[in-house]
Formats: sequence, C-alpha cells, structure tokens
Amino acid sequence: MREIDRARLETAVRMILEAVGEDLDRPELRETPRRAAEMLRELLGGLELDPASFLAEPLAEQHEGLVVIRDIPVRSVCEHHLVPMVGRAHVAYLPAGRIVGSDRIIKLVDALARRPQLQERLTRQIAEAIERALQPQGVAVQLELEQMCMTIRGVQARESRVVTAVYHGAFEDDPSLRPLLASW
Ligand SMILES: [Zn+2]
Repeated sequence: MREIDRARLETAVRMILEAVGEDLDRPELRETPRRAAEMLRELLGGLELDPASFLAEPLAEQHEGLVVIRDIPVRSVCEHHLVPMVGRAHVAYLPAGRIVGSDRIIKLVDALARRPQLQERLTRQIAEAIERALQPQGVAVQLELEQMCMTIRGVQARESRVVTAVYHGAFEDDPSLRPLLASW
C-alpha cells in the first residue's frame, strides 16, 4: 500500500509530450498533464488499497453450496507496456463456513487489477487472497482480457482475448464444477 504521487505523474506526462516534440503552451494541451495524471492515478489506484481488507469481515451467514460471481469487470494495466488490459473475471468458491458479500469479491478483483500487472499473476492473486481469507474447500478464477499491448500494437491481433484460469481444491479435484463459471 502506498500513496500515488500525483505531482510526479503530471511531470511525467509533461515529459512525454516534450519528448515527442509537442508544444506544452498550446492551449489544447494545457490541461492534458493534469487530466492524464488523474487517469493514470485511477488506472493504478489499486496500489493505494489493501486488497486483504475487503475480505476481512466474513458474514455470519451459513451457506453450503457454490458461490459464483460471473462477469466481474476488470480494468488492469500491463506492466510491460503500461497499456490497459480490460475484460471480465469469473470467480467461484465452495465455502467451508466462511462467506463474504459478493461486492467484497468485486472490490478485491478491482484492487488487485488496478496496478502494474500480468494477467497470469492477477488470476493467481485473486485465488490466493480468497483462499487466505475464507479458507474455502475450493476456489476457481477465470479471466478473459483484451491485452491492448497485443491488440493495438505489436502483432495487432485485434479480436484476440487471453483466457487464464486457476483451479484450487475442490475445483482441481472435480472438473465438473468448472463449467458453472462461464459459458465458454
Ligand atoms: Zn504488455
């Protein structure tokens, strides 16, 4: 957890514009460093959050069966190119006495996503955070993201999506549980 330095972000954006030869006095660009810095702060703002805090208070409610949260919006940033990775996550767990409100899982995904990331690591970190906090019988996480470093640059594979998945515990032992997560 840390505080993002907004002033430094603004300076960095100014330097990018200078590096490409833009005129920073051009009226249209006057607000750009501030706006772009604010956008970067939002995209990377998960760094200012403690992901574990979202799962810190399990509900007293008892629930025996699966909990599946589909189509969680994901906006992340590829740490190799600093361009967005966007898409959705499907998260499931088989409780062993502890559950949390589903909004807490959505906040956890968001906090872990909005930082310099790799899709594979993000997938694993979501699963591990749920395991640590809820100690369920099993947890499964699937991510389907457009990695813009593949779709708008480099190979420009415009329609491609990258799918990653982690299956632990019951989901590892019983593959019949997995199709419940997503339609693909
Ligand atoms: Zn990349």
